[in-house]
Amino acid sequence: MQKRKKGLVIAIDGPSGAGKSTVARVLAERLGYTYIDTGALYRAIGWKARQEGIDPADEQAMERLCMEIDVSLANTDGDPGIYVDNQDVSRAIRTPEMGMMASAVSKSPAVRARLLDVQRELGAGGGVVMDGRDIGTVIFPDADVKFYLDASAEERGRRRYRELKDAGLAVDLATITGEILERDHQDSGRDIAPLSRAADALPVDSSRLSIEDVVIGMLAEVAKRREEK
Ligand code: C5P
Repeated sequence: MQKRKKGLVIAIDGPSGAGKSTVARVLAERLGYTYIDTGALYRAIGWKARQEGIDPADEQAMERLCMEIDVSLANTDGDPGIYVDNQDVSRAIRTPEMGMMASAVSKSPAVRARLLDVQRELGAGGGVVMDGRDIGTVIFPDADVKFYLDASAEERGRRRYRELKDAGLAVDLATITGEILERDHQDSGRDIAPLSRAADALPVDSSRLSIEDVVIGMLAEVAKRREEK
């Protein structure tokens, strides 16, 4: 395996609303690692497609968009900012609509190929916690530690609802839970890099666990893997 200079590559995959981003951020902070929110990259492409009125199912148009788009992540004090063509879209991509757009564009072969390179480059030096859907299966199949974080659909719906409400968005629980289920269906059913648990990923059910409990369990696993290396 490639020698990593700055630490391990830690992959956290799982369905929407399982708490991946919160847990990944805290875990990265405790380890002094960089948190990489890969869903933000798909959301950014979804945002640009919406801006340009492109149908995510129009593969030729998506190919063009992927050639033209400049998408980058910038970490400021552990807070990941996302830029499209130098415009800060960090807030604009956090709506339920952009979640659905992200899921729609994520089926495109051109999008997956483009973001595969971006993500591999971001994680190449190690010392990263990456959350997504296919990090442990496709992006970094040789990641040092892999987790698959899940929770019941009801709990995931409730969490996402609270998060969006706290961010000041007018949302209702039934709609949010419905969107989560639809995204689960789309993300698990797509042809390329569907959401699935890598055979060597440790499953973690966060339905009844606090963020702190999940992080403590993950830190213990990371310590164990470090000793084994
Ligand atoms: O994690 P987040 O909810 O921001 O992801 C938005 C969408 O981006 C997901 O529903 C999924 O369709 C797509 N995605 C993906 N692969 C990743 C991360 C996100 O397909 N590694």
